[in-house]
Amino acid sequence: MSIFHPVQAICGQCGHTNEVQRTASVNADRRPDLRAAILDGSFQQQDCAQCGTVLRIPPHLTYLDMARKQWFMIDSADRINGFEALEDSARQTWDRAFGSRATPHARRMGESMTSRLVLGWPALREKLIAFELGLDDVALEMCKLGVLRDMDSPPLADQTELRLVQGNAQALVMAWHELATERVLEAVEVPRSRYDEIIDHPDDWAELRAQFDGALLIDWRRLMFASAQA
Ligand SMILES: [Zn+2]
Repeated sequence: MSIFHPVQAICGQCGHTNEVQRTASVNADRRPDLRAAILDGSFQQQDCAQCGTVLRIPPHLTYLDMARKQWFMIDSADRINGFEALEDSARQTWDRAFGSRATPHARRMGESMTSRLVLGWPALREKLIAFELGLDDVALEMCKLGVLRDMDSPPLADQTELRLVQGNAQALVMAWHELATERVLEAVEVPRSRYDEIIDHPDDWAELRAQFDGALLIDWRRLMFASAQA
């Protein structure tokens, strides 16, 4: 089910208190319109009633698409700091729904599903686009690391994020988003061959890929924000 409930959002521009509709879960099988709204960026977005500024409260929801075999837990982009606790919580929720603590029937369904922790609206849209293109999201993150390496002065990782926004057989288009506002700062077109190279030469990338083993948060920033291990 996709249940909405009203929450108050204070406009950062004029201070007006707006009532916005927020949902704790999206069921894309029953509400394909919500999936479409996530893709076009209009989901849970509305204008301030007083000044017209666009308001979008950060995500905090679960997303289920049985037809596409996708289960995501989504939280706000700034939760990358201390993501480990959030990932634990996502794993427990997954385990109860479709994993080790679910009913045998649900567990069987869960075996063929992709479970992810996703941080921020641009990241959620990216997952939907990537999986629709049939991309391996671990390879996509490794591809981004290559893009970063090539840049003379990449935007700062704690204020920006690089997200896939579209793609085809020739190219993957990624865009730098400002974390706080989701504003697109700059788009980068990456030849699809750079992604294909990662898929075609798994041995060359095995060491890096191993760092995502068992992870729900498939996001290169986890390598940067990981808490120091004891
Ligand atoms: Zn306002």
